Amino acid sequence: MSLIVMKFGGTSVANIDRIKNVAKIVEKEAKNNKVIVVLSAMSGVTNQMQNYIDEINSQQSIENDLLLTSGENVTIALLSAILNNKKIKSIPLLGWQIPIITDNNFQNAKILNIDNIRLNNFLEQFNVLVIAGFQGINYEGYITSLGRGGSDTTAVAIASVTNADRCDIYTDVEGVYSTDPNVVPEARKISKLAFEEMLEMSSTGAKVLHTRSVELAMKNNLVLQVLSSITNKPGTFIIDDNNLIEKEIVSGVSYSSNESKITISGIPDKPGISALIFGILADKNINVDMIVQNISQDGINANITFTVPNNELNYAKEILQNNLNKINFKTLKTDQKVSKISVIGMGMMSQSGVAQKMFKTLANNFINILAISTSEIKISVLIDEKFTNIAVKSLHEAYNLNK
Ligand code: ADP
Ligand code: ASP
Ligand code: MG
Repeated sequence: MSLIVMKFGGTSVANIDRIKNVAKIVEKEAKNNKVIVVLSAMSGVTNQMQNYIDEINSQQSIENDLLLTSGENVTIALLSAILNNKKIKSIPLLGWQIPIITDNNFQNAKILNIDNIRLNNFLEQFNVLVIAGFQGINYEGYITSLGRGGSDTTAVAIASVTNADRCDIYTDVEGVYSTDPNVVPEARKISKLAFEEMLEMSSTGAKVLHTRSVELAMKNNLVLQVLSSITNKPGTFIIDDNNLIEKEIVSGVSYSSNESKITISGIPDKPGISALIFGILADKNINVDMIVQNISQDGINANITFTVPNNELNYAKEILQNNLNKINFKTLKTDQKVSKISVIGMGMMSQSGVAQKMFKTLANNFINILAISTSEIKISVLIDEKFTNIAVKSLHEAYNLNK
């Protein structure tokens, strides 16, 4: 008998009819296998909880995470009840009942440990375990949440510790596409994608998989399948790149408006200044992504531009201003209306001209590049947010990704 882990996202459990549909999919697998189901909250529910938190301006992490993770309690109870009605022996389990132990980083907690012995005990007693995604418990006994989209990571972590034979991530699209199919209808479904490519896609904005779920699957060499809970079609397999026969030069284009740009000007043009600025920010755990330094025309003053996540912008500004005496800059400007556009592909490693094509395509559309960063299999540029759609669409076309 095999063990299958199946994760269903918010749209797949959005109402009772959808949950009944999930029950049918689970029923099929449970005929010959043990099944662990991981569920999200009904779509919109976690956002609603976040709105409540914002409305009362709650700064209380314990309460906030309890609220944020509450939607998953509802969906697992509903699915398990429906399965038991169908005489499929099932049990709903919250994160703490397993337990899924996390660190203390409320709202973005990392899983430290999952009790495999208890999970196996549950598996001996029941055919289907229905586990709440996105939630854990810290060593002090408080409920924590894994960060938005974190149910994927719950599923992969459970599949890893139980040595599951398969881990299927059911969602509202038929797989991973060359770019967000809801933005570019011409986007193409990818049949196989390397872990590294998926990791770059997720971390640069493709929210179809939680970045940490991909990291974890890669570490444990666990094949993931992303597929639709509505249409019954094969999805996308995320696999080790050694098993990819043909490596695409560019597999996908992603975008994110989650970064802000900071420019500090009039800083002394001398050795050690970058080390000083980024040292100060690193000490406060600010995540700096793209960096551009402009050499000064007068040889005395320089400018430096870099990006930080939107939610760290105010803190970063405050830290820099508090260190004005040390850094000696003249002005500090910020811009939140920027987007990062990335092109990703394993074949890039052995192919030249990929970056040039990106820059030329943007130039042909009169889009100015504000910053650039690269890895072996990714090129990212920062542009004005208002050009996001045109940039994604034209790059998608330029690399022949349209269906
Ligand atoms: P779930 O609730 O099932 O976890 P998400 O909303 O988190 O679903 O992720 C699915 C969404 O990811 C899709 O509806 C799509 O808009 C978006 N998306 C972004 N980039 C991509 C991509 N490259 N391929 C597929 N979907 C993508
Ligand atoms: N319900 C959580 C969220 O909306 C977790 C998830 O769906 O993955 O972020
Ligand atoms: Mg998701």
